[in-house]
Amino acid sequence: MPSPPATTRPDWVPDDAGADFATTIVRGTPPTRPGCAAQAPRRRRLSLEDYVSGVLARDPTTLGRAISLIESNAAAHQTEAQQLLTRLLPHTGKSRRIGITGIPGAGKSTFIEALGCQLVDSGHRVAVLAVDPSSSVNGGSILADKIRMEKLSQRRDAFIRPSPSGGSLGGVARKTREAILVCEAAGYDVVIVETVGVGQNEVAVRSMVDCFLVLMIAGAGDEMQGIKKGVIELADALVINKADGDNRPRAIATQAEMKRVLRYLHPTTAGWETPALLASARTGDGVPEVWRSTESFFAHVARTGALESRRRAQAVEWMHALILEGLRLRFHHSAAVRGRLPTLEAAVADGRMPALAAATELLDLPPTG
Ligand code: GDP
Repeated sequence: MPSPPATTRPDWVPDDAGADFATTIVRGTPPTRPGCAAQAPRRRRLSLEDYVSGVLARDPTTLGRAISLIESNAAAHQTEAQQLLTRLLPHTGKSRRIGITGIPGAGKSTFIEALGCQLVDSGHRVAVLAVDPSSSVNGGSILADKIRMEKLSQRRDAFIRPSPSGGSLGGVARKTREAILVCEAAGYDVVIVETVGVGQNEVAVRSMVDCFLVLMIAGAGDEMQGIKKGVIELADALVINKADGDNRPRAIATQAEMKRVLRYLHPTTAGWETPALLASARTGDGVPEVWRSTESFFAHVARTGALESRRRAQAVEWMHALILEGLRLRFHHSAAVRGRLPTLEAAVADGRMPALAAATELLDLPPTG
């Protein structure tokens, strides 16, 4: 191999290296970074038909790729994702959609693992999706960073998908909502949507599931666990987790307290009395009872028609949310708005112009110009 002229030697070459040091390394080393295009096996591009047939055939790889397509922010992918959803829609709607929330450390992953394994053992197919926009808020994801649900993830009839990374709560919620549909088309009959109880997430998840479980632990502070935030009002069941060992008496006391609180609240689901249940995700005690209660809930909402009416209302509400989001994006993408906005912001900030007059002027500008 010819040595490069001394003048072209890069400056990171060790002082005592021979003249051919850099060339040998640079020329002889293929790219080694994981995921580097030169090394990653090329994945065949899937056609719409491939996606549809793969998902309906319950192929987990295609299912994963279909969800990635949905999660992509590229305009071309979004068009394709909507075509895919339209094709899959007739095959959706047959699962039980269950939301589970709780503060970090309440035992959500342990509980979902225990419940999921039990469901898979009794013949169910379980998909677990996560809503965790915290990754875009504070730079670190609460749900995705841990090694989670290891046992469940090894089961053939379980599918676990971490939260889509980045993006607003609205964006993450859209992707999860659509992922639920794809999982249903792939034959999962229980879809669990997990979220961290930190505020708005619960409301977003409540609006995409049929049944909402709030996981609590004894002594974590009422305020933190959402009594003040109204999360309990969204619940179809409260589960006081970690009711084991020395902690059991405290869990029983919390259960009694929660039952009192529930007496003063309107149930989220008409005619359903929200129970407060005890469980230990670690030992598995109480987990079958939580599932039995969930089954009674589904029997109740099927009987009363609440399941169907809730789903219809959710779909329409969702369309309206998308309209608002679309209008917002269109407004902010308008060149006319972008040009005028800083001036009007300054005028409003300085008190030279009323906010309503500024807003009206901006809204009257052409949306795409
Ligand atoms: P998450 O943040 O809500 O997903 O909570 P994790 O499932 O990661 O659990 C947090 C901690 O609580 C872990 O150390 C678990 O082992 C523990 N844990 C979860 N469930 C139980 C339970 O039922 N009993 C006890 N004693 N510990 C539990």
